[in-house]
Amino acid sequence: MSSAGEPGGPPRHPLDVVVVGSANADLVVQVDRHPAPGETVLGSELAVHPGGKGANQAVAAARLGARVALLGRVGADGHGRLLRESLERDGVDLGHLHDTAAASGIAMIAVGPRGDNSIIVAPGANALLTEGDVLDGEPLLRAAPVVSLQLEIPLPAVLAAARLARRAVLNLSPAVPLPDELLALCDPLVVNEHEAALLLGTSGAPDRQAAELLARGPRSVVITLGADGAVVAGDGAVQAVPSPHVAAVDTTGAGDAFTGALAWRLAAGEPLAQAAAFAARVGAAAVRRAGAQDSYPTMAEVEEL
Ligand code: ADP
Repeated sequence: MSSAGEPGGPPRHPLDVVVVGSANADLVVQVDRHPAPGETVLGSELAVHPGGKGANQAVAAARLGARVALLGRVGADGHGRLLRESLERDGVDLGHLHDTAAASGIAMIAVGPRGDNSIIVAPGANALLTEGDVLDGEPLLRAAPVVSLQLEIPLPAVLAAARLARRAVLNLSPAVPLPDELLALCDPLVVNEHEAALLLGTSGAPDRQAAELLARGPRSVVITLGADGAVVAGDGAVQAVPSPHVAAVDTTGAGDAFTGALAWRLAAGEPLAQAAAFAARVGAAAVRRAGAQDSYPTMAEVEEL
């Protein structure tokens, strides 16, 4: 059942989280090996899955029980319909998901025999999300306790959303240099180990990396560490957060599941370390099944862990 309001109108209920971000159709083909430049290889049958970091965050939080809206753009095409349907199934409010005269964003994903992915993203409609679109959603953004962000949409839209947010959670993915103003609004900045190393220009012990990232200006920092959970920094403390031990099948979209869950628990008023511990359980639950959104757990599944 959909809980979406009228397009552009107010949502039907108070929201926990507004996600401002991308939605992509993931076009997945299994290959025996990746093609070299100039080469063609035959792959498996095409599988099309709803994805994109913004939509993934929104679905992750909504499936757990959060009241979520997604502000973004999809094309008025078949992929756009697929993306809308998957979001609606989980009750994500789509009153600010705009149909756009462009192709929906897609990710072309070739999966090799060892699960090694190569991915090309064609942002399509996502690239057309403007600062104006975000400003049109001002009442929505100001009303929500948390706005959750990632970087598959233009930076001016991300910055506009962070400015309006009561609290901005930003997953620095894909990693791009951030203006100081945006960095200072992140509470927390969420990165994985690779993104932390890119931002700092060096790798190192996660607790030190977290402290160093915090010194760059965000209000708080979370570094996700795959099977090793996460480390959080803020309020003068750096804390390790464990992840439950699980048999990992597919880690696609784990970071998005983590961030969506984190945003929801922060919206509920939990302290950062507690919210991150919950998010780590959600991330762990998500790697037990194949796919991104398809793998995201319900609250009952998280409680089982
Ligand atoms: P990203 O997908 O952004 O690279 P990570 O791989 O760090 O992010 O995963 C995000 C979260 O998902 C981790 O903090 C952890 O809670 C969970 N997770 C990821 N991989 C595993 C794993 N192999 N075992 C248990 N939990 C995992």
